[in-house]
Amino acid sequence: TLKSGIVGLPNVGKSTLFNALLQNSVAQCANFPFCTIEPNVGIVPVPDPRLEVLQKLNHSEKVIPTFLEFIDIAGLVAGASKGEGLGNRFLANVRECDAILHVVRCFESEDIVHVIGSVDPLRDVDIINTELSLADFAQIEKKLERMKRNRADSKTTLEVEALERAKAALDTGCLLRNVNFTSQEKAFLVPLQLLTLKPVLYAANVSEESLATGNPFTQLVFRRAREENASAVVVSAQVESELASLSEQEKVEYLRILGVQRERIGLCLLVREMYTLLGLETYFTSGPKETRAWTIKKGTKAPQAAGLIHSDFERGFIRAETISYDQMVAVGSEKKAREQGLIRSEGKEYIVEEGDIVHFRFNV
Ligand code: GDP
Repeated sequence: TLKSGIVGLPNVGKSTLFNALLQNSVAQCANFPFCTIEPNVGIVPVPDPRLEVLQKLNHSEKVIPTFLEFIDIAGLVAGASKGEGLGNRFLANVRECDAILHVVRCFESEDIVHVIGSVDPLRDVDIINTELSLADFAQIEKKLERMKRNRADSKTTLEVEALERAKAALDTGCLLRNVNFTSQEKAFLVPLQLLTLKPVLYAANVSEESLATGNPFTQLVFRRAREENASAVVVSAQVESELASLSEQEKVEYLRILGVQRERIGLCLLVREMYTLLGLETYFTSGPKETRAWTIKKGTKAPQAAGLIHSDFERGFIRAETISYDQMVAVGSEKKAREQGLIRSEGKEYIVEEGDIVHFRFNV
């Protein structure tokens, strides 16, 4: 599973959000496996209403969703890149993530002290982004020095140029994910696990009264996200953690009072957005035993998609019998789909599409 690291200044609601992610995943998906490996790591099911539809259609005994991993990375403060506040360790944790969930405080509260004294989301975002940029800068310098020591030959010139270009961009305050690197330059940068190269989802954390409409703070965050090629969602960590402790009926009532729709807000949306941000897609397998969602990178070919289920499926791949989710639902059953010739037979070069329902044929 791909990992998303939760970052943000202290007291912005990271832990509350992380715990709500975990609690809701249990409550919402009662029979879904779910686990916490370490206290700050949570494997969260990706909500997908299509699963239930397919389960009904095929009378599947059980449903297995697909998952994303979230890591609560506490302690990122100004000065982290210089090792303050255990900074280096936290930055190393971020480095291992595939994407960043950046929580920004967009709620006012007398009781909860803001580390810097006032609610100012753009300043907060800048503090974190500066730390990430400084860490990248140091990382690149280290690499350049190492190359110099090993006496760079002509083969490494291109690499040095790519690194210098990245350094110069950081120097002007540019985040690396906003630089138009060539694919060759990217290939040199990717192994360094640079922090500002990672995709970012901003979570504008609000109090319940702002959940339906957002507020001036969330507007700032959304504008910033657009400028930075990032995504953004409004969440209320507090509302989510309260929802987790309510019965289904109470939840409906609470959401009605707040004036929001479950699928349109908060954690459901957040997890889906993260999934998209990571360039992930879902295909399904579905039968009487189980209906299951599988995660692939956009552009994955059928044999590799099959390999997720079992390596034998990839090795012995013959063909994929495929129908889109929409077509399957429209026709109403697999039997009818077969009768009407709607199930396609696809070969090795087929690129699996979002929402495909697939049955793999393979040699053992
Ligand atoms: P972290 O340091 O970023 O992990 O922040 P926490 O999750 O520990 O939250 C800090 C405090 O803010 C806690 O007392 C939370 O209950 C509170 N808090 C979190 N989200 C919200 C929110 O949306 N509204 C309000 N009013 N308080 C919140």
